[in-house]
Amino acid sequence: MANPKKKHTLNIAGKWYCTDPDDEDGEGCIACNVCYTGAPDFFAEDDYGNAYVKKQPTTPEEIELCQEQSDMCPVCSIGDNGIASN
Ligand code: SF4
Repeated sequence: MANPKKKHTLNIAGKWYCTDPDDEDGEGCIACNVCYTGAPDFFAEDDYGNAYVKKQPTTPEEIELCQEQSDMCPVCSIGDNGIASN
């Protein structure tokens, strides 16, 4: 599960978030580019290629798309405040 205490500072406010890759525990995005190429309307990359949420999904279709990115994230770095499986 993505650690809600390690959110990337660029996440836009809301349920969905990506975790900070530079935290001391080594958790977080590894810049694999899955989410921001799979759902570029909702995820973006920072200067280091690490992901953050730029827009919160609202419709069922948008949420499903973001959930797919969460399911494919290799390091479980995408969360939605405990509702997503990752
Ligand atoms: S899918 Fe996960 S590891 Fe890959 S860029 Fe997105 S948050 Fe980072």
